[in-house]
Formats: sequence, structure tokens, C-alpha cells
Amino acid sequence: MNFYLTDEQKMIKESAREFANKEFPPLIKIYEKPELTREKYKQLLDIVLPKLRKAGFLGVTVPEKYGDAGMDTISALIIMEEFAKVWGSGSLMFAVLNSLSVTPLLAFGTEAQKEKYLRAVASGEKLGAYCLTEPNAGSDAGNMSTIATKIDDGWTLNGSKMFITHASLADFIIVFAKDSETNKPTAFIVDTATKGFSIGKMEHKAGLWASPTAEIILEDYFVPKENLLGEKGKGMRVALTTLDTGRLYIAAQALGLSQGAWDWTVKYCKQRKQFGKAIIENQGIYFPLVDFSIYLDAARLLIRQAASLKDAGEKFTKEASMAKVFSTENSVKITSDCMLFCGGIGYTEESPLPMFCRDTMATRIYEGANNIQRYVVAREENLTDKI
Ligand SMILES: Cc1cc2nc3c(=O)[nH]c(=O)nc-3n(C[C@H](O)[C@H](O)[C@H](O)COP(=O)(O)OP(=O)(O)OC[C@H]3O[C@@H](n4cnc5c(N)ncnc54)[C@H](O)[C@@H]3O)c2cc1C
Repeated sequence: MNFYLTDEQKMIKESAREFANKEFPPLIKIYEKPELTREKYKQLLDIVLPKLRKAGFLGVTVPEKYGDAGMDTISALIIMEEFAKVWGSGSLMFAVLNSLSVTPLLAFGTEAQKEKYLRAVASGEKLGAYCLTEPNAGSDAGNMSTIATKIDDGWTLNGSKMFITHASLADFIIVFAKDSETNKPTAFIVDTATKGFSIGKMEHKAGLWASPTAEIILEDYFVPKENLLGEKGKGMRVALTTLDTGRLYIAAQALGLSQGAWDWTVKYCKQRKQFGKAIIENQGIYFPLVDFSIYLDAARLLIRQAASLKDAGEKFTKEASMAKVFSTENSVKITSDCMLFCGGIGYTEESPLPMFCRDTMATRIYEGANNIQRYVVAREENLTDKI
């Protein structure tokens, strides 16, 4: 593993930082508000997508063959971190666009599916989403109730899914349902414009307000046979392979949120004076900030270790879960203690700290709650094969 960024990766980092610092703050002011309407989310997407496309941040992991950069994982995660340093919701959009909807197609798509969907993702013409969670099947995702009944030229899907990021904006969604023949989870590409697909409840979340999360409902939805993704009955492989990569994006998101909080706090504590000196000069303030700096670097190294393995074509399941647990759990501690070090100002929306705190709470939950990551590590370390 190389501990240094290449010149190209340094350039990517710089341009992602510049983009986030220039484009995100005005959007945060307008759109990072609780209970946005579907129209507002759409309005935001219509503003952000062209900017991302112009700056080259759309579908970055889509190979050149299908119209994009074919970027390595480390570079994509650098962008994720830089975006999250400024805006959690903006970084989540990047994760869905570049990871959750791209990874399953890249790993399991037929040539025709890749041509149709990856090319459209790379150009910004289509937006994807990933749809596994159900009301009664969250951590225990394999226990899903959505059913795919086999008919002559495809399947009929019935069921509902919840907590789906970008569901209300997506043109296509990777949906997991139990195939009636095998009674096992199977992955399908669902075009959202087709009859039988609808959006249910829009969630009002504790944070990540500018990122839409919704229920989807499938009622006698017809999916043609060419939209089967991977093999019948092997959907959990598609789901879990996607999540291995997705978890790295979430680890990088938590890293960015906590690094953003740390940077803001250091600046504030250097200029805030009490008892005749800057508050940063107190050991009670700078010792924990030093500890946090160590945690941040350690999280970054865990993330890059897993990403290097992925880029080398090696298995990285355990390393991705470790990176997610370490980065997200430290992020909750770092963002909330940073708020404490900034006193009353840290608790107001004049600082970005409340937003960082709210947003990072989700990172311990989505793409597999952290106890499930611990189970993954336990299994990979041969401690147990049971949950
Ligand atoms: C903002 C947001 C966006 C999301 N986006 C998506 C999306 O785009 N697509 C999608 O499919 N899903 C999405 N999700 C859903 C997310 O992946 C699930 O919430 C997550 O997997 C946990 O499932 P659950 O909420 O049902 O919790 P539960 O499974 O009910 O778990 C609750 C708690 O119990 C713990 N737990 C469960 N079983 C065990 C066990 N055996 N041992 C120890 N502890 C256990 C868990 O770790 C967790 O802390 C999103 C969620 C959020 C909050």
C-alpha cells in the first residue's frame, strides 16, 4: 500500500475541495432544512447535477468504455471526504451517484445493462438508487417480503421498501425481491417511470435534510427478463458486494464530517479568548484535539487500506467493515466534542457543528448498522459464523 497520494490524486483532492467550498455553502443555506417537499428536492437536484457533471464528479467510477473517468476507489473516496467536510447531504448524493447505483451494475450487469444504465449515469441523464431495506427486514435484509412472481417474459413485483435514498428522484432503482421459483432474494433493475411503481412516505429525518429518503411501493410492477441483475436467487451476493464498497463511502463521509468539524473548531478556538488567552492554549482543549487528529488519520488509513485492496482486485469485506465502525463511531465523538469546545456558538447554526453532529449520526446506521459490521468482522476473523 502506498501511503502517499499520487499527483493525480492530489489534483482530484484539490478540485473536490475547491468545488465543495464554492458550490455547497449557498445551497446549504437554502436546502439544508427539515421537511423539504419533493419539489424542493427536485429543484436542488436540477441545480447540483449540472454542476457535478461540469466539474467531472458524476459517475466517476464508471469505466471510460461507458463514458466516464474510471477513477480508482481511493480517488473517489477522497472526493467523498472533501464533499463531506462541507456538506453531508451533498456527499450522500455523490455516494449514491457513484457507488450504490454503479457498483451493482459494474459487478453484475450484462453488457446491454451497462451500456444502457452506466452510460446514462455518467452523462447525468439518469439517476439511480439502491433498494434493499423493508419495514420488517433491515439488518436482517435477507428476510425480505417483497416478492417477484415469475411470468412468461419476466416477473411481477409486489411489496414495499423503506428508507430509500433518492427514491423520489431516481430514474432506475436496484430492487431486491424474493423470486417465486427459488424463494431467494434476486436483484432487478426497476425503471421508476413504469406503471406499478410509486413513492410512499417521505421520511422526516434527524439530519441530512437535503437528502430525500422515501418509501417505495411496488404493485403488480412488471419487470422484463432483461432487467434481471445477476443470477436468479443470488441477489444477496449483489446486495452485499455493493455494500462492501458502499461502506467505504460512508466511512469516508464520517471522516469528512469529523474533519470538517475539527477544522472549524481549531480555527474558532484559536481566535476565541477567555481568561486573557486563546482557548486553544488550554491543554483541556488541545489535548483532545490532538487525540482527534490521531483518530482522523487512523480512519483515513483504514479507509485507504480497504480501498487499495479493492483497487488491487483483492477481497476487502473485513477491512471495509472495520473502517466503517472506526470512522463513524469516532465521528460521533469528534463532532459532539468539537461542539463543546466551541461553547454556545458551537450549538448555534452560525457554526456548521450542529449539522455535522446531526448528519454523522446516520453513518453508524446506514449501509449496515455498526453491530452488523462487527458481525462481518467476527465472521471474517473466524470468531463465529452465526449472527
Ligand atoms: C438516512 C438513511 C438512508 C438510508 N438509505 C437507504 C438506501 O438508500 N437503501 C436501503 O436499502 N436502505 C437505506 N437505509 C436503511 C438502512 O440501511 C437501515 O436503516 C439499516 O440497515 C438498519 O436497519 P433497521 O433500520 O431496520 O434497523 P434494525 O435492523 O432494526 O436494527 C436496529 C439496531 O439493532 C441492532 N441489531 C440488529 N440485529 C442485531 C444483532 N443480531 N446483534 C446485535 N445488534 C443487532 C442494529 O445494529 C441496530 O443498531 C437508510 C437509512 C437511513 C437512516
